[in-house]
Amino acid sequence: MGLRAQIIVHVVATVFLTLLAGGFVRSQRAAADLQEVAVDHGLEVLRALAAPCSVPLATGQTEELDRVLASFTAASGWGRLDMLEISVVDLEGRVVAHTDPRRFGRLQEDDFTQQATRADHPISRTLETSADRRVRMGMPIVSSLRWGTVTATLSLQRVDDFVSDARRAALLDIALDASLIGAMLYVLLSVLVLRPMRDLGRAVQRLADGDLQARVEERRRSPEFALLARVFNHLAQRVDDSTRRLETQVQERTQALEAANAELGRLAATDGLTGLANHRSLHGQLDVEVARARRDGGPLAMVMIDVDHFKAFNDAHGHPAGDAVLAGIGALLRSRLRSTDLAARYGGEEFAVLLPHTGLEAAQGVAEQLVAAARGLRFPGSGVAEVGVTISAGVAHWAGHHESAAELLARADNALYAAKAGGRDRVVASVDAAPAGPEGGA
Ligand code: GH3
Ligand code: MG
Ligand code: MG
Repeated sequence: MGLRAQIIVHVVATVFLTLLAGGFVRSQRAAADLQEVAVDHGLEVLRALAAPCSVPLATGQTEELDRVLASFTAASGWGRLDMLEISVVDLEGRVVAHTDPRRFGRLQEDDFTQQATRADHPISRTLETSADRRVRMGMPIVSSLRWGTVTATLSLQRVDDFVSDARRAALLDIALDASLIGAMLYVLLSVLVLRPMRDLGRAVQRLADGDLQARVEERRRSPEFALLARVFNHLAQRVDDSTRRLETQVQERTQALEAANAELGRLAATDGLTGLANHRSLHGQLDVEVARARRDGGPLAMVMIDVDHFKAFNDAHGHPAGDAVLAGIGALLRSRLRSTDLAARYGGEEFAVLLPHTGLEAAQGVAEQLVAAARGLRFPGSGVAEVGVTISAGVAHWAGHHESAAELLARADNALYAAKAGGRDRVVASVDAAPAGPEGGA
């Protein structure tokens, strides 16, 4: 059962039972009062009847007694007295006059009559049967001496009916009051409690579902719900702020990581001494270029370069000077080649140059220029102000579809050996004629 229903059921039940208990106690008291008034009134009536009965009773004039009783019952208002019967009895309890003439002469032996004939004051006793309630009353007939007793039976039917009617009306009132309170509670709980709770619950759900803009209206609320709404909004704002901060941080870290990765990739592909591509990077690029040449049939040339007598140079001038030579040749290659060409340090004092879209003759020309330019380089030497070096180059041109990257490289290498064998400081082109495939020039 919902909160609202529980509160309403409890409050309405409590109010109903409390009013019912109060009403019951009040009605009991009112019924007793009413009965007392009825009995008092009845006794007054008997007192009024007892007075004219004393003389006829003393003188034994039973006809006169009958007449008194008859005129009494014939009087207007008798019907409203609720008297079921009235009898006049002598000192032994024998009936000398009765509203029911058939009872004349009978001895009333019941307890009450016996008690009434002995009592010197008015008495009454309530009798209850399953059918109704009645009051027996006794009034002594006294005129100097005691002559007899007037007894009567008063019906409490009207009193009880009146009380029952009043109880029914009160019960209806109580039920109506409880219903009104229930209806009022329903409206108040709906507006003051359930609606704000529902709004708050929806906002919490939205926030839980990831809507960081979820907020609750703080105005037009009771102070308690306004406080809850304020606390929730503050919490939602903090979640929003920290999520944004986190996203920004993640973005910054991701960018930094990407930059670091890019730098790492560049470093992994670059030779530290010369700044050229390294051996690994050259092989990757060579595969790409051979694949491209296979696809579009375009020319592709490869130049292998080796520094001449470099061991001797190192021996003569020291390794640092040798390193300066390698860096100088790296700079030379970078400055002389096109941006689409790739110069790499192949290892030790060997370099490789990849020339896409370049035919054999053009590649030879490039190699010749490089060998000539190297010849003009000057480096600080040990003991001598400046010293120069020479390089040898082997050129190979991709022979066509059947030739792999490794085969092209091997042919360039062979050409380099040939240049070495031929006396160094020169260019030799691979003589391995391509058996098939495109042969272009640049
Ligand atoms: P050749 O003309 O036949 O090529 O003779 P070479 O002496 O140049 O050839 P060799 O293969 O005998 O010697 C290569 C030398 O290159 C050996 C090594 O000391 C030197 N070298 C290789 N890498 C480096 C480097 O990074 N720095 C320096 N300074 N020298 C290196
Ligand atoms: Mg070598
Ligand atoms: Mg060498």
